[in-house]
Amino acid sequence: MSFGSLSISAFVVILAFVVGACIGSFVNCASLRRGTGESVLRGRSHCPECGKQLSAFELVPVISWLVQKGACRHCKKPLSLRYPATEIVLGLVFALLVWRYGVTAQFVELAAFASVLLYCSLVDLDSWTIPNAAIVAAIAIRVAYIAVAGLAFEGDAVSLLLHSLIGGFAIGIPLLIVVLVADRVLGRDSMGGGDLKLFFVAGLYFGWQQCLFLVIVACVVGIVMAFVAGGGDSNVDEDDASVRHRQIPFGPAIAVACVFTMLFGADLVGWYDSLFV
Ligand SMILES: [Zn+2]
Repeated sequence: MSFGSLSISAFVVILAFVVGACIGSFVNCASLRRGTGESVLRGRSHCPECGKQLSAFELVPVISWLVQKGACRHCKKPLSLRYPATEIVLGLVFALLVWRYGVTAQFVELAAFASVLLYCSLVDLDSWTIPNAAIVAAIAIRVAYIAVAGLAFEGDAVSLLLHSLIGGFAIGIPLLIVVLVADRVLGRDSMGGGDLKLFFVAGLYFGWQQCLFLVIVACVVGIVMAFVAGGGDSNVDEDDASVRHRQIPFGPAIAVACVFTMLFGADLVGWYDSLFV
């Protein structure tokens, strides 16, 4: 790789990080406003503590938080680490995706899906629900990509759509059966309906083969997150109500697994297939 193309690709990766951080800022704002019932599109951004409108500088992702040392410039109240954290996370995901896929339609599709996944994760952490609007948005992004890919690249949009649907139902239906049986056996909800819908959507994006890895990764991440959130305390009765309180929602684990699959899913399936050739 020549120095010229290297500097261009470094520029593209940094640009992707900046765009991702800005969208992350918007997604975080949308998730917070969902809780307060405010409109996402109307009303300038303001400090959650004193309500003071934010200047253009104060809207710059990550940097404004660092310069202000994590506090509002007006009321000096601390601003949640959630602001820079969400911006950095989506910035990094965008950078990794453009590094993996280049500036392609597939990058745009997956970056948009990753943004929806961040929104799902934040809302799920806040209120234990995965909004149906987000599920619909994720499906719409996938359908739009299939339509564009089918038209632009002379691919077959119909077979791509069919492949996508098979992936969704091949993951969704077995999981639904497992969940229904587990609910019966355990006598309580083992997995939320929103989680199931998210797995169905993942099937639409990644197909059933990559989703086998995705389900495993989601479970591992979910267990690790539950362990970290529970402080690793295993000396508690399983039926203790406090345990349920300290449980964490599964949506963020599925989201992490989806991003993992975007980056490594195809390689993993290729590697797995090569074992049997
Ligand atoms: Zn303030």
